[in-house]
Parts: sequence; C-alpha cells; structure tokens
Amino acid sequence: MQPGQPFAISAAVSWPDRQFFHAGCRADVMKLLVEQDCPQCGAPVELTEADYVLCCESCGIRSMVQSNSLPRYVLPVSREVSSTGLLLAPYVRFKGTIYLVTESGIDHRVIDTTQVASSAQGLPASLGVRPQAMRLQRINPASENLFLSQTLKAGAILEKAASVGNLVPQVGQQFFHRAYIGEHLSYIYLPLVIKNSGLYDGVTEEKLCDLADFISGDLSSRRYDDGWKVRFVATLCPQCGAGLEGSGDCQVMLCPNCHSAWGLSTKELIRLDWQMQVGDSATKLFLPFWKISTHIPALNIYSFADFVERSNQPFLPRAQWRGKVMSVWVPAFRLRPKVFLQVGRQVTINQWRCRPVAAKLQPNFFPATLPFSEARQAVKLMLAAAAASPKRIFPMLPYTRLTEMTIQLIYLPFTELGCDWTQPHTGVAIGKNILKYSRTL
Ligand SMILES: [Zn+2]
Ligand SMILES: [Zn+2]
Repeated sequence: MQPGQPFAISAAVSWPDRQFFHAGCRADVMKLLVEQDCPQCGAPVELTEADYVLCCESCGIRSMVQSNSLPRYVLPVSREVSSTGLLLAPYVRFKGTIYLVTESGIDHRVIDTTQVASSAQGLPASLGVRPQAMRLQRINPASENLFLSQTLKAGAILEKAASVGNLVPQVGQQFFHRAYIGEHLSYIYLPLVIKNSGLYDGVTEEKLCDLADFISGDLSSRRYDDGWKVRFVATLCPQCGAGLEGSGDCQVMLCPNCHSAWGLSTKELIRLDWQMQVGDSATKLFLPFWKISTHIPALNIYSFADFVERSNQPFLPRAQWRGKVMSVWVPAFRLRPKVFLQVGRQVTINQWRCRPVAAKLQPNFFPATLPFSEARQAVKLMLAAAAASPKRIFPMLPYTRLTEMTIQLIYLPFTELGCDWTQPHTGVAIGKNILKYSRTL
C-alpha cells in the first residue's frame, strides 16, 4: 500500500464515491480555515478547525495534530502592520450545539460565536464573522508577541454562548440537564496596534479607543506558553506500524493491515474495541455508532430490561434482556440536533435487534467524526430522548452518574431507499442530504 492511498476504496465501490468517504473537504468552505504547512514536506495544506489529521496531497503522509491545550490562532494582520511585537487580545470561539433538557422537553440551538475573553477596555465584544472570512495562523512562539491575559474562563464563555442562543432556563422553569455537543472550541487572538495615542485593530486598522482609556483597564499580559505548543505526529498503527487511514476530520483512524481502530486523543492513539453488524447484498454503507454500556444507579437501570421498564417503553421486556447490560447508542458522526437525537433514540430502543460481531474493515465505512468524549456527554440526552415517560427520567438526570462504563464502536449497515439511508435492524432512516452535509457541521 502506498502512503496516502485510501485503503480499500476500490473501483468496485461505484457509489457513494471516494470523495464521500474520504475527502469531504470541499464542503468545508463554511468552516474556519487555518494556514498550515505539511510538517513532513513543507507543502501548504488546507486545514479546517475540524481537522485533527493533516492529509498532505504532496507527500501522502498523514499527521495528527496534538496539543495539551485548546487550539490557538491569530487573525492575520493588515499588510501595513508588522506581525511581530504585537499585543494580542484573546477571544473564545465556540461552534456546536447546546442542548437543554427542561420539564417542557429537549431544546437545542446551533451556536457559532466568538466572544472576547479579556476585560481590557475598548475591545470589540465579538469577532463577528471575521474568523470565517479569513485564513487564521497558528500562534508562533518566534514572533515575540505579548498575550493579554484571559480573564474570562471558557466555562463562562459557554454560559454566555448558551444565553446568546436563549438556552438558559426561564424564571421558574426547572432545568435538568445541559450538554454541549459537536463542538469546536478554540482561542482566536485579535492583534492590537498602539499608535498616535490610540488603540487600533491590527486587522482592519480601525481605531478601537484612546490609549488612555485602554491603559486604564486590565492590561496584565504574558508571553507565549510552552504548554500551547502543537506537535505533528505521523499516524502509524501502534500495533503493526502500517500507515493508518482516515480523513482530516475523522476521530477514529483505521489500520488497513491489522484491521484495528484507533481513537484520536490529545496525547496518543487509543485502541478501540470495534465490531460491525453484518450486512447483506443490499448494504451500501456502514455508519459508526458509539455503544456506551453502563450502569445508571440513580435510575436503577442496569440491564436493557430495566431501561424498558423505567423509561416506560410501550413493549414488555423479554426474559433474556435481564442479562443484557444497558447500552446507550450515540451516532459517531455529526448530525443536525433533531436528527442526532432521533437516530440515537431509535438505535438505543432497538438495540436488542442488533448482534454485532468482530470483523474486518469494509470499504464503505463512513468516517467517525464525533469523538467519544462528546458521545459520553450525549448519554443523558439520549436517555432523555429515549424515555417514553419524560416525567420518570428527566427529574433524575441531575443525579445520574454512569458507572461500569465500557465503550465499543459499532458499524451498522445501511441500504438505499429513495432519498434515505435506512438501517434494516433498527428502522433508522437518515436523509441522504442530511448525511452528505454532516461533514460540514
Ligand atoms: Zn507533505
Ligand atoms: Zn495495524
């Protein structure tokens, strides 16, 4: 196998095409773009904020982007301004879905916001649409810039993002759970220029305020922190040394040689236990799901039968379900909030119809783009979504802790039916267009 060659996407697979499974990047124009050179050969690579794997078309090598902290970018300064010796103001960018569970149901909003994280005077409250319109650069330790201290923490900014989306409980409304899913969280720095007794935006060159007002505010600052460093690591299978395969936005990389699956994390590749539900000749596509098996003591749910009873499903538990540990199934790919909940709910309720087995990789596996860390945050949401009697489940969510958790990645087969992808065992149907655009969320 040549490096960079997508595994097993052979000519035999006529539809969906290679682009659909592996590239998916052309639809990413709505995303924030980051300037990046290939760490192996130096060729420029187009990277988006959703990309954790850099796929270089010049040398074919895939590199993982790793860092101990959130990604940090700087807006490009205007041509007239030097890019060194600047003062940089921090902004927190959040893009994702906020879900709120209240007594009236599950509400959700897609949020895309960039809020100021410094209390210095004169700074714009938000960067507006600028980050989407510009190519960002990673912050560079060599540029000797000073960073204004971050006085607002990411948690407070998320709270603010929720209130921008009107997702805070209303007065007198009981609120049971809030989750942030499918998120991109990063810092974006706005370069500031001081001249003619004024503070100027280093991008637009607009005056922000008088220097006297600015220096009367909180101006504590710091130099580049080594903990912000980004490393690029070639993606080789830790088990057999073969090059792993996966698209830029994938969260799971697959080994075409030993058929193992590896989850990306900030520090290392984590071996995943994966299985698939066997398909038939009509199977065109396999979609990945996180199967999170767990005990939920607060709800007295240990087995699937317990879940059926406690959540008041309109069918009786079978005797063998008493011995089947409860699992919550969460799509391992990004979907619009409503569809995300519907699909997870339907697979969770119909899990008894699936019998996944150990297998070899198939050519038509759809990439897993939702990391396990986020799927875990979705467990309570899926429980809420799957409850036939919300009154029994919702009020217990704040007390719900998950114990004895184990995780598997399961690929389920889908067939084509008109405008939908349908899953024969669970009855899940996902619009083809919805799946096509899932890579852009
Ligand atoms: Zn390269
Ligand atoms: Zn391998």
